Formats: sequence, structure tokens, C-alpha cells
Amino acid sequence: MECPHCQEQKVVKNGKTYHQDGKAFQNYLCKGCGKQFNERIRTPISRLKIPANVVSLALNMRTEGMEIRASGRVLKKAQALEALNRQVDIPATIKDALSEQCKSEEVFMSHLEVMADLAYDDQCTGANPHYPSIADLKELMLNA
Ligand SMILES: [Zn+2]
Repeated sequence: MECPHCQEQKVVKNGKTYHQDGKAFQNYLCKGCGKQFNERIRTPISRLKIPANVVSLALNMRTEGMEIRASGRVLKKAQALEALNRQVDIPATIKDALSEQCKSEEVFMSHLEVMADLAYDDQCTGANPHYPSIADLKELMLNA
């Protein structure tokens, strides 16, 4: 890591900044000029407290033609849902829901096929507005 202010190579970790979704961004302190910066510096979203995934979602909605106020309403609902999930302790991702010994990529991949089959056979799957294939379910699990 190089200081973006003075190009000094001697920088040290200096705590983390926590954003709305609980994700942390590493802060750095330059030993040369004494200025602090974080890993987002010099990016268009460096001063935003909004998580990068929310920014990405908002931009996607806009490029898909969604009106700005409508995308705001949808994002607010999504954030309210995420907050509710945290309150009642529902894991945000499949990985978060797995036990420690199952968190390795290898273990996850070795169970992907059977997880997709079980999800496909689940009674609720038929009530979805879109009927997913096993391949769709696999892709969902890989992206979740
Ligand atoms: Zn510096």
C-alpha cells in the first residue's frame, strides 16, 4: 500500500470504518505525511457511507430504466428487510449460515449439486413466480 497523498510506502493499518451493513473498510495512516486514508480512496465512492453493493444495485436499477425515486423506494425496502434479517438473526448469505467446518470453498462445491437438488424438490419452489431449473438454483447459490 502506498500513501495516495505523498506516495510514501510506509503506511500502517489504522482501525476500521464500519458501514451501514456492518462491513468494515480498512483505514491506513501514512508514516510520511501523517494523513489517514482508506482502501476506497481515489474511487468515486470513497466518501460514501453507503455499502458498495448498494451503490452497484442503485446504478443497475438506473441503467435498467428505473426512475430515481422508484429505485430509492425499492432500495429502502431492501435495506429494511436486511435490517429485519439482522434483528432476528437470519444470516445474510449461505456462507454465513454454514458452520465453520463447512465454510471452505471445497466443501461448499462438493455439496452444491445435492443442495441444488434439495432446493429444486422443496415444495415452496413451485410457488415462485418463476420456476427455476436446477442450473438456476446452482447459479443462485454460487452468487449468494
Ligand atoms: Zn503520506
